[in-house]
Amino acid sequence: MREYLKFYIDGQWVDPTTPKTAEVINPATEAVSGTISLGSAADVDKAVAAARRAFASWGETSVKDRLDILLAIQSEYAKRSDELGDAVVEEMGAPVGLGRGFHVGLGAGHLQTAIDVLKEFPFEQQKGASLIRYEPIGVCGLITPWNWPMNQTCVKIFPALAAGCTMILKPPQLAPYSAQILAEIIHDAGTPAGVFNMVQGQGSVIGTALSTHQDVDMISFTGSEPVGVQIQKDAAETVKRVGLELGGKSAWIVLDDADLAANVAGATGGMMGNSGQTCSAGSRLLVPASRLDEAVKAATEACNAVTVGDPLTDVAMGPVVSKSQFNIIQDYIQKGLDEGATLIAGGLGRPDGLDKGWFVKPTVFVGTNDMVISREEIFGPVLVIIPYQDEADAIRIANDSLFGLGGYVSGQDADKCRQIARKLRTGAIWVNGGFDFHAPFGGYKRSGNGREWGEYGFHEYLEIKSIIG
Ligand code: NAD
Repeated sequence: MREYLKFYIDGQWVDPTTPKTAEVINPATEAVSGTISLGSAADVDKAVAAARRAFASWGETSVKDRLDILLAIQSEYAKRSDELGDAVVEEMGAPVGLGRGFHVGLGAGHLQTAIDVLKEFPFEQQKGASLIRYEPIGVCGLITPWNWPMNQTCVKIFPALAAGCTMILKPPQLAPYSAQILAEIIHDAGTPAGVFNMVQGQGSVIGTALSTHQDVDMISFTGSEPVGVQIQKDAAETVKRVGLELGGKSAWIVLDDADLAANVAGATGGMMGNSGQTCSAGSRLLVPASRLDEAVKAATEACNAVTVGDPLTDVAMGPVVSKSQFNIIQDYIQKGLDEGATLIAGGLGRPDGLDKGWFVKPTVFVGTNDMVISREEIFGPVLVIIPYQDEADAIRIANDSLFGLGGYVSGQDADKCRQIARKLRTGAIWVNGGFDFHAPFGGYKRSGNGREWGEYGFHEYLEIKSIIG
């Protein structure tokens, strides 16, 4: 049983101003796995004051000083990576291989990337008559979701530290453990007091206190669209910069010349990874109408092959994060059935043999792009296959979405795939796979604004100053 009752403020583990706790539920067992403290606006005030004090010196440190801290964090992070992975498994139900592997690896990757970018980043540039300086924006509020906990925290904390900012992290209430260990890592690395602070608690309390705070200069938020909208409204009074990484309903276009069966199988398996709780997941699979039968066969086989069960064992998929997410996903599956989408795998209820835990059946529908299951982010292991007539139709369907976060194009001819990618109104498109920590990541349309990852992620935390003449 875990117990994390203190917050990390001004380099110390401190009690909440007013004691209040909440239980954390293990989604695989539905049992209580531990207790955390829930903070108040008074805790946020203390953390912001510490961050403001620390900014006076951290904002003036040399690149070398900041690199030294990031390297020290890297060494502590490596020592505790399995512990971080196990925390992710317990808090949000990722299978242990995924938790200790990709989840923790993403955090490590963002840390390495921040180190690499910091070594080269041009904080000052002479352009004509002007000296252009990139200066840290100041005190940042970082608000993160539960679905990829290490990715979401690390992609914010390390560029912010590297840029010279100080910060207050507000981790997700559903998945608070890995953030707690990360705070210990940052402390053990010798990060100066007040540079990094962490207050756990409810979004409506801690998140709002940060968004409305007079002395917070920017908010970086990853989460759902409605909360992103609320944060923008809350931050407007104090004219804060707000970076938003929101939801998605990304299309995966399989072109006619692609190995259809292999790509459909890959896209189906990919959709079920992390129990479908990935903002950039290819949740609409676009296949040539003339080859729909082939696609249905490949998707059915791939979906039925996804193993679901105890995340401590060697399964492909664990539970979804909570009872409430389970119910939301069930409602969407029911909606798909009511709308007349054709269910080809999975469906309502838990997989056979799993009576406890928030396990969802990996599910695939064939449908049309106007159905609710094709328009709204389900955030669960539910894929919709949508047939298209020709490439123009595929592009039209892919772009016919309120969201614009990710996209995928598979085909033999990489140039042609890129031509199609150019026409998609989304922030990132993967052509025949690939992965790049330096590629900017963020959304068009209602998927948000701003860009994280790599050098572009630094700009979120920097002001631009012109010294002219
Ligand atoms: P959420 O919006 O419910 O919560 C995200 C965070 O915001 C949590 O820490 C929560 O406590 C906090 N919060 C809640 N209300 C708040 C308020 N009024 N003010 C300030 N903070 C508040 O999202 P979630 O359910 O944790 O995560 C799932 C969502 O995140 C999905 O929509 C998903 O697409 C999105 N997401 C986006 C990306 C991306 O990079 N674009 C990445 C991962 C997840």
